[in-house]
This record gives sequence, C-alpha cells and structure tokens, in this order.
Amino acid sequence: MLKIKNIDVKVDNKLILKNFSMDINDGEIVAIMGPNGVGKSTLSRVIMADKNYHVLKGDIIFNDKVINDLKVDERARLGIFLAMQNPTVIEGVSNQDFLKTALSSVLNKHIGLYDFIKRCEGACNDIKIDSSFIHRNVNEGFSGGEKKKNEILQLKILKPNFIILDEIDSGLDVDSLKIVAENLKEYHKENPNCSMLIITHYPMLFEYLKPDKVNILSDGKIIKSGGFDIALDIFENGFNKYVNVMNEDDNVE
Ligand code: ADP
Ligand code: MG
Repeated sequence: MLKIKNIDVKVDNKLILKNFSMDINDGEIVAIMGPNGVGKSTLSRVIMADKNYHVLKGDIIFNDKVINDLKVDERARLGIFLAMQNPTVIEGVSNQDFLKTALSSVLNKHIGLYDFIKRCEGACNDIKIDSSFIHRNVNEGFSGGEKKKNEILQLKILKPNFIILDEIDSGLDVDSLKIVAENLKEYHKENPNCSMLIITHYPMLFEYLKPDKVNILSDGKIIKSGGFDIALDIFENGFNKYVNVMNEDDNVE
C-alpha cells in the first residue's frame, strides 16, 4: 500500500530523515519506535504532506502512485489519515462543520445533514463521548484525552484505509485508552485491508493491535526491523541496545 523509497526530509533547515525507506503492505500493522526526537512525527507529517516538512529526494508511493506532489487534502482523498500527536485547535470552526466538509471532500459528494448526524452520533457513542462534542469548535478547550478521542471520531467518520497513529495513547487515561484501542481493533477487523502505522512508547495499544512488523528509527533511518519481540524487548530494556542517541550537531546540514 505505502512504499517510501530513499527519502531525505528536511525541517527547519535540519535533515531529519536520511535516505529513509519503508514498505507497508495492505492490511499490515507496522510499528515505528524510537527515542524522542528521532523523527517519528516528522515521518508521519511527511506522509500526510505537511508543508513544513520538505522531501529533498526520494519517493512516497501510495497504491503504486507517486504522491510526492499531492497536497494534504488530495492525500486524504486517497484514504490517508493522520491521528496527530498534538492535534491542532481550529478556532471558530465547529467539529460538525469541519467533519462534514472533510467527509464531503473525501467522498466527493454532498452529505445530507441527517445521515451525517446519525454517523456522528453512532461514532460518539462508540468512543463514549457526549454527542454535544460535535458542536464544539475543533479541539478548542479539549483536554489532552478529548483531543485524542476526537482524532478517533474523525477516523470513524472519514473511514480511511491508511492510518497513522502518532502516539494516540499519550494523554489518555487507562479507560479512555481501552476504548480507543478497542475501536481501532474493531475498525481493523471491519476493514482488514486497512493498513496502520503505529507510533507508541507503551505496550497497551499493541495488546489490541499487534504489529506484524516493528521498525526502530534512529539517525534518520530504520536501523532494525523485526517482529513483535523487538517491541517487548524495548518495553523491558529501553532503546540503548539498539540506538546511539544522536549528537544534536550531527543533525545540522
Ligand atoms: P519524534 O516524533 O521522534 O519525537 P520529531 O519528528 O517530532 O521527533 O522531531 C525530530 C526533530 O525535528 C527534532 O529535533 C525536532 O525538534 C525537529 N522538528 C520537528 N518538527 C519541527 C518543526 N516544525 N520545526 C522545527 N523543528 C522541528
Ligand atoms: Mg513525535
């Protein structure tokens, strides 16, 4: 589904991903792990076409098509979805307007209000948030956990087929995390061809979504790739065995 071939990615004049490559097949759940600041969020943002992150070389290929030049909305239309580590507040725009516009754009058709509200109510119910949530402005005044649940609400409405979860578990209490993880598991069961790229530091999400492959990111590329046992080793022993934490200066071009 997603092939990343030898990309260099620069942000704020720093080269973060260096000749980075990765493949994710249809239906696969793939984990990216690594210490803080190695470029995990950079990877997720570059897949989603955040314009602050510049691809200097290499290709991002989605379902056999090079998407380097596609903008964020065009990638969303292809079914790519990013649940952000720090979801953005959009002042003055209600969740309902935002989601309805996004859904019409992704499906390329008008969405009736009644059908839309039904969809939202079902999704709110599944993730155990009050349906009044959809009338609030996007992430404005939301707690950390509510912001993360709101990402899952978007996902359930938009029904993407490639999902990046960038630390979806940070900021969630144990009960909320369980609800989020159960919903994601259910989503993957209902959409078995949907692929997921999971970034996390904690084991709980993996109890629900066991990765087929675990990759460790360091020094701008994947330095180790393998099965779930790598994640278990990291949870127990940390990254030291795998990673030499970079000197900041190494990073400056
Ligand atoms: P991770 O998600 O692995 O913790 P990030 O991808 O967020 O790491 O960050 C990698 C490096 O890139 C860090 O040094 C970070 O400060 C820098 N970086 C990421 N995004 C930006 C940005 N928008 N502006 C400036 N520096 C950034
Ligand atoms: Mg990050």
